[in-house]
Amino acid sequence: MAVEPRRWRLFIDNRWLDAGDGETTPVINPTNGTVLGRVAMATAADVDKAVAAAHRAFTGWSDRSGVERGTLLDKIADQLQSRREEIVANQVANSGKPLVEAGIDADDAIATYRYYADEACRLDARQDTDVQLIEGFAGRTRFEPLGVAGLIVPWNFPLVTSGWKVAAALAAGCTVVLKASEFTPSNELLLGEAALAASLPAGVVNIVTGGPDCGRAICEHPLVAKISFTGSNRVGQEVMATAARRSVPTTLELGGKSAIVAFGDSDPYEAAQWICDGIFYNAGQVCSATSRLLVERSFEAALRPVLLEKTEAIRLGDPADPSTGMGPMTTRAQYNKVISYFDIARQEGLSPSCGGHVVDRNGGLFIAPTVYWDVPPTSRLWREEIFGPVLCVRSFSDEDDAVRQANESDYGLAATIVGQDQQRNARLARRLRAGHIWINSAPVVFPQSSWGGFKASGIGRELGPWGMAGYMGTKHITEARSALTV
Ligand code: NAD
Repeated sequence: MAVEPRRWRLFIDNRWLDAGDGETTPVINPTNGTVLGRVAMATAADVDKAVAAAHRAFTGWSDRSGVERGTLLDKIADQLQSRREEIVANQVANSGKPLVEAGIDADDAIATYRYYADEACRLDARQDTDVQLIEGFAGRTRFEPLGVAGLIVPWNFPLVTSGWKVAAALAAGCTVVLKASEFTPSNELLLGEAALAASLPAGVVNIVTGGPDCGRAICEHPLVAKISFTGSNRVGQEVMATAARRSVPTTLELGGKSAIVAFGDSDPYEAAQWICDGIFYNAGQVCSATSRLLVERSFEAALRPVLLEKTEAIRLGDPADPSTGMGPMTTRAQYNKVISYFDIARQEGLSPSCGGHVVDRNGGLFIAPTVYWDVPPTSRLWREEIFGPVLCVRSFSDEDDAVRQANESDYGLAATIVGQDQQRNARLARRLRAGHIWINSAPVVFPQSSWGGFKASGIGRELGPWGMAGYMGTKHITEARSALTV
C-alpha cells in the first residue's frame, strides 16, 4: 500500500489546525531519505489551546461511567483495526520498521485500547467499595481521575508507546494532550482521526507535534495535572524537575542497558535466536534491548560461531520487502549516535567481531548488526545506552557472577534468562534488578503485564491495572453512623 505525501496538522478540540506561527518540518523516510510530507511544529500557544480544550472536556469525560468510556475506547480499537494495513504502511515508511515488526506494533496498539476498554468497564465495580472501620463508622473508597494528562513520547514505537499512555489515561477518566515526536507523526496523528471517527467528545484527546519546546510547554502548563514521559534520562530529569516545581505526579519511562544471561545448558541455536531478537529488533532502537550478553564461560565456544553467523545473515534492506530482517535507524541523529560509538570502540581499542560499520544503500540510514566480544566492564559501550544494533558480550563463571555483572548497571529496565534449569531461572528472576524478566523468550510485552524500570530506568509503571492507577487518585470517604464525637 503506497503512502501519499501529506501535511500533518495538530489535533486540538476535534479540529485539525496548523501551528500558530505556521511552522512545519519535513518528515523523512529513513530507508531512502525521501520526504513523506511536512508536520506542524506546535508553539507554546498551541499547547495552551490543547490543554485548555482538554481542561474544558475533563468534567464531562470524568463524569461518564467506566462502561461509557470503555465503549468509546473499544470504538477507537475498531477504527485502528479497520485501518491496520495503513498503520503498517505508515510504520514501515515513517520508522523504517520491517513489515512483521510494523504488524506487531499495530496489533499491540489495538490490543492496548481493547484491554483498557475492559479495564474502564471493570473500574465501575471497584468504585465505592466498603472498607471495614471501627463500629459507628462506615468507609468506602473511590478512584478518581487526576485531570488533564500531559503525555510525551519518543519516536521508536509510534502509536504503541502513546497507546499505553492514552488508553490508560482515558480509561481512568483523564483527558489528554499527547505530544508525539516530530520525526514519526503519521500514526500518532492517525489516532486523532480514529478518535474523531469513534465520536469522542471534543477536547478529550488532543495531539500536538513538535520538539523540546513543545514538550517543555506541556510540563510547565499550570492546568496539566499529571505527566507521563517516555524518553531519554537527560530529558526525563528535566521533566521531573519542572514537574517538581508544581508537585505534579510524574511517570518516567527512561533508558536501559539490559542484560541477557545465557547458561551452558542451552541449545546454542535457540540461545542465538533469543539474543538476536533481544538486540536487533527495531534495529536495536528499543529501550529494553538486551544489549549486554553475559555468556557462561563453558558455553562461549559453542555459542560464538552460531551467534556471529546468525547476526551476519540478518538481511538489511527495504523494510517493505518481507524478506528484510532489519531496517534502517529511524532518525539521522540516532544513526550518527551509533556511529559515534564505533569511534569510541576504536579509541578504547575494541574491534567488532562482526559489523561495526554503516551500510551504504539508497541514502538510507543503515547500520550493520554489530557484536563486540570481551568488552571490559569499564567500557562506555558496556555501560551506556547506544540505542542501536550493537551487542556487547562478556563471560561469567557461575550464577553469582552472572547476577553481579547483570546488576552492575545504572539501569534496570529488563533482563532475559536463557537456560534449562527451571529452579535456577526462577532464582535469577528474583535476583535480577529489573522491571521485566523474560525466561527463554523473545522480549514480548502484553497489555496485561506491567512495564517500567528499576533504578535509572524510570519511576512508576505502565500497562495492566498499574498503568491506569497512575492516572487516578484514591479517595476515601468516612461517614459517622451515630452521633459519636471525637
Ligand atoms: P528524548 O528524551 O530526546 O525525547 C523524548 C520526547 O521528549 C520527544 O517527544 C521530545 O521531543 C521530547 N522532549 C525533548 N526535550 C524535552 C524537554 N526539555 N521537555 C519535554 N519534552 C522534551 O528521547 P528520544 O531520543 O526521542 O528517545 C530515545 C530514548 O527514549 C532512549 O533513551 C530510550 O531508552 C527511551 N525510551 C524508553 C522507553 C521505556 O519504556 N522505558 C521506551 C521507549 C524509549
